[in-house]
Amino acid sequence: MNNKFKILVVEDDSNICNIVKTILETNGYQVIDANNASNGKTVFLSHRPDLMILDLGLPDIDGIDFIKNIREQSDTPIIVLSARTNEADKVMALDMGANDYVTKPFGTDELLARVRATLRDNRRNANGEKISKTKFTTRDMVIDYEYRRITIGNNDIKLTQIEYNIVELLSINAGRVLTYSEIIKKIWGYVDSGSIKKLQVNMANIRKKLGETPGENKYISNELGVGYRMNMIKEEVN
Ligand code: CA
Repeated sequence: MNNKFKILVVEDDSNICNIVKTILETNGYQVIDANNASNGKTVFLSHRPDLMILDLGLPDIDGIDFIKNIREQSDTPIIVLSARTNEADKVMALDMGANDYVTKPFGTDELLARVRATLRDNRRNANGEKISKTKFTTRDMVIDYEYRRITIGNNDIKLTQIEYNIVELLSINAGRVLTYSEIIKKIWGYVDSGSIKKLQVNMANIRKKLGETPGENKYISNELGVGYRMNMIKEEVN
């Protein structure tokens, strides 16, 4: 089952796009790409990537305007890829909400380091506070944020990307009820008439995979009509 970080690369230069894609895929990321801002927006909305790598010099609209447009509805981290040596462009990209930038030409290690750091820095709770720890534990369940891995005892729990994202979101807000719309906005970016049903279906699958029987609230509590909460319980050490 695929539970990799999903990265969208928006770049019109196919050589550079392929290089970035290869570097990321070789290092365990799933990559989707687009060759202009318009396609980038469409792919962004339908795939909800964990991170976007964006070339500032796009053929249709300016990368800076694209960042502004994305930021009106999403705080998904953006790393700007720019051939421009002009400091003013980098400052403007950061001011518009880009999280970091990489100047072309760049090295493999530099790109990967920026990606890891940006993903780590984006792990924030509902109050916007940065979560610095890399693992979360409740009872016998351990969530490893760096590897997107969940274990219960010695068992690996295989979740889809969406399922994992929901569990991670609940865990970084453990002890607090997240409403349906808070979760939906974070995971899918928008709320529509089918969203609650979609969340409930994912939640039912998650609970089954975590081995919870209906009505049991071992790891996640269902606050009926309100939302979900991850319970924060330390396993007793015998
Ligand atoms: Ca370009």
